[in-house]
Amino acid sequence: MPTAPTVPVVGGGRFPVHRIYCVGRNYAAHAREMGFEPDREAPFFFLKPADAVVENGATIAYPRMTGNYHHEVELVVAIGGSARDVPVERASELVFGYAVGLDMTRRDLQLAARDKGRPWDTGKAFDFSAPCAAITRKEEAGNINAATMRLEVNGELRQQSPLSLLIWSIDEIIHWLSLYFDLMPGDLIYTGTPEGVGPVVSGDTLRGTIGGLEALEVKIGR
Ligand code: MN
Repeated sequence: MPTAPTVPVVGGGRFPVHRIYCVGRNYAAHAREMGFEPDREAPFFFLKPADAVVENGATIAYPRMTGNYHHEVELVVAIGGSARDVPVERASELVFGYAVGLDMTRRDLQLAARDKGRPWDTGKAFDFSAPCAAITRKEEAGNINAATMRLEVNGELRQQSPLSLLIWSIDEIIHWLSLYFDLMPGDLIYTGTPEGVGPVVSGDTLRGTIGGLEALEVKIGR
């Protein structure tokens, strides 16, 4: 039997992962680079399996069935309570903490599925597609909304954005998501990536940072 996936918590303990939710097109400049004009229509969501999480420091094998494997650095929100239909004003009560994550994407498969109106799963919900650094408890994370997120590949800056540029704020994401799903302790929400997504190859080292959170570093293997 596989063991239940967990993510370490800064300062000790582990966070058992229940579900991984992801938000699509949540930064305007990234929506544009993907060929869409951003708007304030309701956010949309997709999921990854809980066991897609990858521990900080790991080497990830270059995935099968793709020739265009992309990085998307994202703020991950860890949910610590259970609720549905959460008003925006109460959403922050559900947050356990924050982490730096990567929504790794087989872009060729995702775009082929998108263009045919098919599900994204093979492009998004594959094995080892959700690296996540240790979770910092929200009380210790400072003002996350004022932080800047960055991704470097082999030391070269590829993505950089203030989190204030999120189209849908953390509280709004929790509100909308809770209209569709029963949120549970252990849920992780990947809140979307800014512009600058691009391919990685075997041998690359990816380093994602957000303000005072633990940096995420993974290497792409063979
Ligand atoms: Mn993403």
